[in-house]
Amino acid sequence: MRSLQSDVEQRGTRIFELVDKHPERLFSKAGFYQRLMALSMHDERFKTQLFRFVAVLPSLRRSREIIQHLQEYFSDSNDGFSPLVGMGVRVARLVPWISAPVLRWNVSEMARQFIAGRNPDDVIATLRKRQAQKIGFTVDVLGEAVVSEAEADEYSARYADLLEKLARETRDWADPLGKNAELFPVVNLSVKISALYSQMSPAALADAIAHLGTKLRPLLRRARQLGAFINIDMESYALKNTTLELFKTILTEAEFKDWPHAGIVIQAYLRDSEGDLRDLIEWGCARGTRFAVRLVKGAYWDYETTKSGQNGSNPPVFLQKPESDANFEKLTRLLFENNSVVTPAFGSHNVRSIAHAQAVADELGIDRSRFEFQLLYGMAGPIKRALVEMRYRVREYCPIGELLPGMAYLVRRLLENTSNEGFLRAKFAENVPAKELLRDPKELIKPNGPSQPGSSVTISAENRGKKNGASLDTTAGDSFRNAPLVSFIYKDSQDKMQSALREVRKRLGEKHPLYIGGEKIWTDNLTPSVNPAEPTEIVGYGTEAGVDEAERAVKAARAAFEKWRWTPFEERAQLLERAADILERRRYELSAVEVFEVGKPWSEADADIREAIDFCRFYGQQMRRLGRPKLTQQVPGEESYHHYWPRGVVFVIAPWNFPMAILCGMASAGVVTGNAVIMKPSEQSIICGAMLMQVFEEAGVPPGVLNFLSGHGSVIGAHLVDHKDVDLIAFTGSREVGLKIWESAGITRPGQRELKRVICEMGGKNAMIVDADTDLDETIMYSIYSAFGFQGQKCSALSRLILLEENYDRVMERLIPAAASLRIGNPEQPGIVVGPVIDEPAYRRILEYIEIGKKEAKLAYQAKEVPPHGYFVPPTIFTDVKPNMRIAREEIFGPVLSVLKVRDLDEALEVANGTDYALTGGFFSRSPDNIERIKARLEAGNVYINRSCTGAIVGRHPFGGFKMSGSGTKAGGEDYLLHFLVPRVVTENTSRHGFAPEKSPEYRDEFLWPKPQQ
Ligand SMILES: Cc1cc2nc3c(=O)[nH]c(=O)nc-3n(C[C@H](O)[C@H](O)[C@H](O)COP(=O)(O)OP(=O)(O)OC[C@H]3O[C@@H](n4cnc5c(N)ncnc54)[C@H](O)[C@@H]3O)c2cc1C
Repeated sequence: MRSLQSDVEQRGTRIFELVDKHPERLFSKAGFYQRLMALSMHDERFKTQLFRFVAVLPSLRRSREIIQHLQEYFSDSNDGFSPLVGMGVRVARLVPWISAPVLRWNVSEMARQFIAGRNPDDVIATLRKRQAQKIGFTVDVLGEAVVSEAEADEYSARYADLLEKLARETRDWADPLGKNAELFPVVNLSVKISALYSQMSPAALADAIAHLGTKLRPLLRRARQLGAFINIDMESYALKNTTLELFKTILTEAEFKDWPHAGIVIQAYLRDSEGDLRDLIEWGCARGTRFAVRLVKGAYWDYETTKSGQNGSNPPVFLQKPESDANFEKLTRLLFENNSVVTPAFGSHNVRSIAHAQAVADELGIDRSRFEFQLLYGMAGPIKRALVEMRYRVREYCPIGELLPGMAYLVRRLLENTSNEGFLRAKFAENVPAKELLRDPKELIKPNGPSQPGSSVTISAENRGKKNGASLDTTAGDSFRNAPLVSFIYKDSQDKMQSALREVRKRLGEKHPLYIGGEKIWTDNLTPSVNPAEPTEIVGYGTEAGVDEAERAVKAARAAFEKWRWTPFEERAQLLERAADILERRRYELSAVEVFEVGKPWSEADADIREAIDFCRFYGQQMRRLGRPKLTQQVPGEESYHHYWPRGVVFVIAPWNFPMAILCGMASAGVVTGNAVIMKPSEQSIICGAMLMQVFEEAGVPPGVLNFLSGHGSVIGAHLVDHKDVDLIAFTGSREVGLKIWESAGITRPGQRELKRVICEMGGKNAMIVDADTDLDETIMYSIYSAFGFQGQKCSALSRLILLEENYDRVMERLIPAAASLRIGNPEQPGIVVGPVIDEPAYRRILEYIEIGKKEAKLAYQAKEVPPHGYFVPPTIFTDVKPNMRIAREEIFGPVLSVLKVRDLDEALEVANGTDYALTGGFFSRSPDNIERIKARLEAGNVYINRSCTGAIVGRHPFGGFKMSGSGTKAGGEDYLLHFLVPRVVTENTSRHGFAPEKSPEYRDEFLWPKPQQ
């Protein structure tokens, strides 16, 4: 009996023979496109620039803009294309009305190679040609992510319309094979769920299914009446579980339970794809009706690996290409083995994968009319032809739509065609021999390659650290790794969060003591902390400290300082690391406390705990870097070592909006640097503060080194700020309080030892500028999130959106429906974006600002429905806002966005920089020159380009502003700890009678006396 491998080789060779009978280059369009792709394959930088240029081109309206971008993207590349560009640009300047349209036409042609038509009428002609070639179709509407429900409705309508037209036009088309035709309806529509619901959150499965079900059911119903087939495409990993659940849920409903013409996609590049497929098969058997699976490798490999890299989590995809190939083959067999319930389709251009499927079908005795090969429109034409000649069933995936929404699709196809690892490039561009292309992928997997989760290559702390957070100064092995965010894609994480919410709810109303000098202290006064979403619900009580307790805390801290300051920095760093581990262990519970106490949505609460963990680990690591005395200069006979001493007693005053992270960041910085700390949480987040104290207590913080005082800022805050024995005040909060502290700290009191140092982080009036060539999908999505995420209560939140006149209407047209689609509600529910504001005074103040806005500017949007209880402020957008208006100058700290219209980028910068603040700011643009300009000139401590202006990550985005936003410190940055330290230099004459040691070491041991026992 012939082995499977030799059968695959024989079949593959046959396909190649047929392919070679009609030789075709990888890119069928000759000339311009051919040359660009050839260049892309040999020059990565050129490829990046080209794809970026292709993506921006459709949004450029004027010839002059096209020429400008062309020059910006290519003029400095060293690729043989730049002289052409240079010449082209010179010519174009002279005759722009010819050159720019020619360029646009060329790129349109490039897109047209992959896009089957602009609209349903257009596509029918193409489908008809394919029908004559015995190739079937599945039609997909280009566009993907929608930013609002209005857009999602539009997409639903387009799918419905398409279905009708396709059914009408193909009424008398016959099945190409004339056998088992009942399994393969002629009309086949591919649907993407991201086009049907704009507020999808992986954590909120039930919500997504409820919304998507409403859109899908009529489509499926009509498809059934028309005898058509609906396939649900698979997109990024974040949507995978929702897609699978949706499919199973709807198709189990009585109406669809016995309908066999629905299909779903399994992506073989996913590590969990086998489990998913087995689960689907089991479900299908229980359902008792056939369904279809399109097996593919997957289109989002680069996206998934980049995203995971940013989050520091294990990528869900295989990392070696042959692993995806081998898994594809494994799943191919699984599909055929379950042919009684699954109709398989193989979506691949790889001749090895195709030949393998043919061979396994033959081995298992499955007729070739019972499955199909699916290939993309505009790609691998000769393979399609070969398969038809071999009398296999072939279906083409035909996207339709306009150029602009099609750009993401086009760029994915270009990437696929030019990918180093891809089959198409190997076969058609590099002429790799057939034998090589037909090798068994299992043999090509490198045992030590980047593969298994946790393998040394994939996620070693060192690797990750280098890419992900290590400062330039850190020595090898001393790198930093951020804690990954919890992924609520996983059911396990969702369950843990739900259970944490239940558990914390049982403990609501608990009382929490002060913690001074290692003792728990109670007073007669208890302060309630309430749930802003349900103000009648008391989350817990904090013990209220008065001046007596504040005095006691200073004494305890002073006494502890004298010992703690001489404790080796290594021990101090380890204390922080133990605290980080405890925070990690209690992560869900602490997130749940934040949901109740400050109204944070799930993922925002988790990000806050993650930041606290990161602060502990990062500052621990930074202290190890700073702790060792460092030689200042190498000279013979003398050595000078620069090192640091702690300042003394640190008073930490934290806000409620990042109740764990900011409090923990300031307190842990104080502790690790050898200071003794008194921490005061905000009056609105006492319970979170008490939880943090518990964490440090469990971590073993010595008595008096960290003290916890909750109480009124006006009483204990003011008392401690003025205290002669407090050496440093670390404050994050409002400008009003910050400036008072700054002023008061400048007064030297009798008996005071040190000049008081103040770390002062205050508010912002953050602006984002939108350029004329921006990517609108991203701009809207990020602006909405930056302005309304956590109700706009982040100091980094967007509050002024500055639009160029030219782009104004286009942005507004999508911005307002996107705001109107936001999910508002109690953040205990998963997937909520906008919850309550923190308390009644904040609620009233924000509503007052909205009234001011109504008088000053034009109310363009305000949400109509918000929950009746709780401090819910409706998301609000003002237009016609002028820079001198109060709503454009004063910090509102709520879900209120002002939109300002400007003539050009000059004016945009003037407006953006024209406030008292300089905290965060951003820019959306695809013009390299304009981006450079903003990077150089925007007045903000944190400037974000083409992304949201919130969500700073420790070590990666050191955070803090200047002007009236702060004193120029950077939390989570490598120089932050220096503010908690005083520098010292110790110089020693090391020569004796002219004899000097040859060299002094660059670092020496810490100056400690008495020396710790070894
Ligand atoms: C008709 C059709 C429909 C499709 N529908 C979908 C869909 O709904 N959802 C979807 O996600 N994809 C879909 N795809 C798949 C996707 O668009 C790519 O075409 C496909 O992954 C390319 O695989 P290949 O077998 O043709 O080529 P090959 O060159 O053999 O494989 C390339 C693929 O290998 C994987 N890969 C690349 N590098 C690595 C690496 N280092 N480690 C591990 N794996 C790697 C990637 O998935 C890449 O796309 C569809 C494809 C077709 C033909």
